[in-house]
This record gives sequence, structure tokens and C-alpha cells, in this order.
Amino acid sequence: MLRLAIQKSGRLSEDSLQLIRECGISFVSSSYKLKVEASNFPLEILYLRDDDIPGYVQDGVADLGIVGQNVLVEAGGAGLEVEALGFSKCRLSLAVPRGAEYNSVADLEGKNIATSYPKLLGDYLAGQGVRANLHTISGSVEIAPSIGLAEAICDIVSSGSTLLGNGLREVETIFRSEAVLIAAPNLSPEKQELLDQLRFRMQAVRRAQR
Ligand code: ATP
Ligand code: ZN
Repeated sequence: MLRLAIQKSGRLSEDSLQLIRECGISFVSSSYKLKVEASNFPLEILYLRDDDIPGYVQDGVADLGIVGQNVLVEAGGAGLEVEALGFSKCRLSLAVPRGAEYNSVADLEGKNIATSYPKLLGDYLAGQGVRANLHTISGSVEIAPSIGLAEAICDIVSSGSTLLGNGLREVETIFRSEAVLIAAPNLSPEKQELLDQLRFRMQAVRRAQR
């Protein structure tokens, strides 16, 4: 039996469940249960926080997972990706206060930047030859400039309304993300065969949507 970890509740949850159902897999989901078994495919679904999913799959506690590339790459698990799923698209961007002078990323040299993605941001800045002080905070990153914690932020943007509401202006996109299927390294041949079947069905679902 394959174990698939998905986000318990959040922006990935609904589309993840829908994709599994559209693959013809039936299960009874309940908000109390953290684990359910499908009735017509050898699959068990685990409900977890998205941040925990790459680690569980890397360690083989779960065989498969559905997670955003932003969380996956930040966790150092990029190599686990097996299939892009096309939903939960968003971008990771740098933003500065609306009135601040900004011409290029070089203007961030020596500045304080608040983010929940220190690895992705650190890699981007290193690639641009910019040294900045990164302050890692886990939520409400957008308020950092207004409380004097940082001169810039780097966070997930989808519509831009949260940035606008906090007096910020998006200046660079550093990463584009979507939901992906990830798989544990070294699956048994039996599990690999089930994964191949699942991927085949997922690809058919995506083709039908186009
Ligand atoms: P958890 O409680 O599981 O830790 P979370 O609060 O960290 O959840 P969510 O806000 O539910 O996470 O976002 C989950 C993922 O959905 C993000 O990591 C990102 O890949 C994607 N995402 C985030 N914001 C958006 C958005 N506005 N539109 C589409 N996808 C998004
Ligand atoms: Zn999370």
C-alpha cells in the first residue's frame, strides 16, 4: 500500500483531494481523521502540515506527498519532485515600502530583509552578488518594514493585495511555484509500479483539463 501525505488544511488541501478523486480513487474523508484508506486503490492518505511533508517523504515515513515547490525547495528536497500538478500557483517576491527608492536588486546590499524562505532568498541573492541580512520569521512577514524590523521583505504573492494593504511594492520575482507530487527515494518495485499507475492517471486528468 502506498502512503500519500497531503496538507491537512490550507491552500493545497482542496485541490489535492480533488485530484486524487479525479484519478478515480474513492475514500471517505473526515475532518477528525488524520489518516484514511482508499477503497478501490492501495492508497492511504495522511493529513499533515505542509512544512512537514518533504521531511516525511525524504525519510520514507510517507512514500508520496503533495506540496508546493516553494516549501519543497526551501527544505532542500527539490530532487524528490516527480510530477508538476499545475495548481496552487504562486510566486515568491521581494517587496519594499511604496515610497522607498529601488532601481535594482543591488539596492538591497547591506539591507535587512524579512522572509520565511531564507534558503531560496539566500541562493537568489548570492546569484546576484548581493549581501544582505536575512531575518527569518514564520508569518506576517509583510508587517516587518512598518515595525522597523527590515527594509524589505520576501514572501509569497498571489494577487498582491496583501502587499498593497501593507504599503509595499513588489520589485522582483525570485521564484515561481506550483504544487508537485514528490516521492521517497528507493521505493520498492511494487510501490514504484503503483506510483507509475498514479502518475499515469494524474497526467490523464491534467490533459482532460486543457
Ligand atoms: P500549514 O498549516 O499546512 O503549515 P500554511 O499556512 O503554511 O499551512 P498555506 O497558506 O495553506 O500554508 O499555503 C500552502 C501552499 O500553497 C504554499 O506553500 C504555496 O505553495 C501555496 N500558496 C500560498 N499562497 C497561495 C496563494 N495565494 N495562491 C495559491 N497558492 C498559494
Ligand atoms: Zn506551512
